Amino acid sequence: MSLREILAPQVPMVIGLNREEPVLCPICGDIYLHHAGIVVRSRTAEDAHGVEVTVIKGAVHVETRAPAFTGRRDDFRIEFWCEGCAMSFALAIKQHKGCTYAEFSVLGPAREMEDGES
Ligand SMILES: [Zn+2]
Repeated sequence: MSLREILAPQVPMVIGLNREEPVLCPICGDIYLHHAGIVVRSRTAEDAHGVEVTVIKGAVHVETRAPAFTGRRDDFRIEFWCEGCAMSFALAIKQHKGCTYAEFSVLGPAREMEDGES
């Protein structure tokens, strides 16, 4: 029995659980997703302001007094754009009140379409 069979239907089918199952676009279901950037946010204490680090296209931006963000603890997200629907979305992992959540959110039309592979 595969991990998918054990966990389904609790795990959304857009998240692959092994190397044979790619992450699917939560909007159109396409498999051709490009990483657009990664954002990591870490608080100094529960509910406090935090540090936000963004990595995109080989550049790093650090915001030492990041504005308040949702949840009470740290989080990180991977931003993608999809070849199938040209939309941007994010997969976020965040902790709130002792539990960790994974969620997709739609960011809007893709800001850019890369010419090369990512
Ligand atoms: Zn799509």
